[in-house]
Amino acid sequence: MIDTHAHLTRPGVYEHADELIDEARREGLLGIINVTMSLDEARNALNLVSKYRGFVYTALGYDYGGFDIREVQSIMKIINDNKDVIVGIGEVGLDYSKVRDPMLREISRHIFTRWVLLAKELDLPIIIHSRDAENDVIELLRKYGPVRCIMHAFGGNKSQVMKLLELGCYFSIPPTITRSRQKRDLASFVPLNRLLVESDTPELGPNPGEPSKPTHIKLVLSELSRALNVDIRELSDIITGNTYQAFPKLLSK
Ligand SMILES: [Zn+2]
Repeated sequence: MIDTHAHLTRPGVYEHADELIDEARREGLLGIINVTMSLDEARNALNLVSKYRGFVYTALGYDYGGFDIREVQSIMKIINDNKDVIVGIGEVGLDYSKVRDPMLREISRHIFTRWVLLAKELDLPIIIHSRDAENDVIELLRKYGPVRCIMHAFGGNKSQVMKLLELGCYFSIPPTITRSRQKRDLASFVPLNRLLVESDTPELGPNPGEPSKPTHIKLVLSELSRALNVDIRELSDIITGNTYQAFPKLLSK
């Protein structure tokens, strides 16, 4: 299976990314999709992809709590210049638990809208973070889509899940499913053909206080297999197939 969401280029992780990648290879993962949130990370991500061609892929995005329009424009230029190399846009999104000021939320929505429009223009999947902002994310996707959307570690309710499914979104399930009722419920609302797995390295690990790593997607798989009562091999094949559907450019790399 492919880890669809790991922050390998985040400061503090990037320094030991080689070890995490080696371990993932040894443990039989098929690949890792790195996600980024800054201009510095975007540059490092392109290096990592060329170093581990065919195993590490990258999406490029921007901090959902950031407001530096010039940095956003620089990242968008890198995306345009490297659209054949990258497999998606992300992580981007809205986080109202971090951004509380109404004016700043407005800027967040403006930036997020630009990401949605870029994803549509370049026909790239968009990896979305949403916290306490689900209704606005749904509204903006409806208004500016359609786009291929991947909801990462989704925390919203069932009716929001249903609306996002109607919009064509996939849902990537993080290792916290081993200790989160909400994530198990989420997995049960999402049809099998829309499920993906992610490690969210270094966040959302299976044990509180311990960093996550790409090989933790194996724990996600076994927990999903148990919770959904589907044979683990069958489920692994389905999720791998979904990953290629959600990220079509993986197949051409
Ligand atoms: Zn993330």
